[in-house]
Parts: sequence; structure tokens; C-alpha cells
Amino acid sequence: MRRLLFAANWKMHLGPEEARVYLKTFRARYNRRDDRDVWFFPPAVSIEAAAQATRERADLQVGAQDIYWEPKGAYTGAVSAPLAQQAGARATLIGHSERRHVFGETEADTRRKVAAALAAGLLPMLCVGELLAERDAGHTVAVVIRQLAAALGGTEGAPLSRVVIAYEPVWAIGTGRNATPADASAVHREIRAWLVARGNAQPKVVYGGSVNLKNVAELLAEPELDGVLVGGASLDPEGWAQLVQTAIA
Ligand code: PEP
Repeated sequence: MRRLLFAANWKMHLGPEEARVYLKTFRARYNRRDDRDVWFFPPAVSIEAAAQATRERADLQVGAQDIYWEPKGAYTGAVSAPLAQQAGARATLIGHSERRHVFGETEADTRRKVAAALAAGLLPMLCVGELLAERDAGHTVAVVIRQLAAALGGTEGAPLSRVVIAYEPVWAIGTGRNATPADASAVHREIRAWLVARGNAQPKVVYGGSVNLKNVAELLAEPELDGVLVGGASLDPEGWAQLVQTAIA
């Protein structure tokens, strides 16, 4: 049976005290279900507060939204994988579309970051996805495979098995438009085949892009989807608890 992953990307919201209040509410509203895990990606300043607020719950984990690839040094403003881990992170997003398109992160950067996360023992959640123009030109699969190869080429076997992929079409993030379950499923199948061919026998591939309480059930009805990565709809702890609780029987 697939184990579902519900990942909350808080983006640039919720400072440490707000994170504590949020997680208290979430824990009160969400009755643990043994077939699913919930990951929270707070801003870096709130990782420690979030990790403390979830520390007795193995099904609730905290991750960083980004890391820098060097472990330490004169890199003002950056957070390394070991520093995120010291604060309580167990995972990290890598190559989120906002990192790529707002901050100019390159595919070469994603490769260095995946390697740094694996070296430090953080689970990388690599985000891939096409722009609308690429989709309209029929290049979705080619773009996604190029992003996978750029970030993961050379990573095989056991380390590759620790990487989670989030397929997030860029045109669906924060726009209210989401891929149809069938379209998402078709791309997930290609991603899965790429990973299996390189030694990840049981890839975990989640979908992201305007997922909410109304559309999550039909998305997760597709067996290709192992979970969801959610921005906007994860910011309200009661709504997020309800989504995680009831998304699928
Ligand atoms: C995201 O931030 O990864 C995301 C999918 O955002 P939203 O759910 O708001 O589209």
C-alpha cells in the first residue's frame, strides 16, 4: 500500500511564534492516520520552533525550503544542510519553482544542493515542472526529464531512493489552476520510470500546484500520486488538518 505524503510549503509566512500556534492547532485538529506522513516546510527562522512542536510525532516532520550547498563558511544569508539539520530539519525542498524563477536558481545549483542534502542526511524533495509555454509546445516530459537528469544524474541506487520528487507545473503554482488528475498521472509515470531505471525501486512522486480541499480527493484517486505539496491551502492550520485528515479514505 502506498504511504501518502502531505507536504506543506509555508513559503515566506509564519514566524517562530506563529509556527508554534499553528502546530498546536494542527495537532488538536488532526487525528493521526497511520497511512500518511505530514511534512512542514517553514521559513528558516521557524524550523526550530516547528521541529520542537512536532518532536513527539514521527509522522510529522519539518524541512527547510532551501539550502546552500557549502556546509559552512562566508556565505552571508545562506543556510547550509548541516545548519538546517541542527535546527531540526529532516528534509529540504530543492529547486522549487520560486527558487528557480524568482531567485534565478540554475539546474547546476539543484545538483549541488541535492548532493549536499544527501551528504548531510537530509531527505531532498526535488521540485520539477514545466512553464506554460513549454507545456503548450508539448515539451512537458522533455523539460521534466531534463530537470531530473540535471539534478540527479550520477545519483543512483540507495541515495537515489532517498530523493522524493514533487511534480509542480509552474503554471499551476499559486494560480488556482491545477493539472487534471490524468495529466499529472501521465507525467508521474514518466518520472517514476526514470527513477526506477536508475535504481530507485519504489519512487515517491508527489504533485503540487493549487491543490486544495476541493480537488485533492480526485488527484489522490490516481495511484500514480503518492501525495501532494501544497502552498496556499496549507497556511490555515484548521483547513490543512481537514485536508490531510479527509483527502482520501
Ligand atoms: C507550492 O508552493 O509548492 C505550491 C504548490 O503552492 P500552491 O499550492 O499555492 O499552488
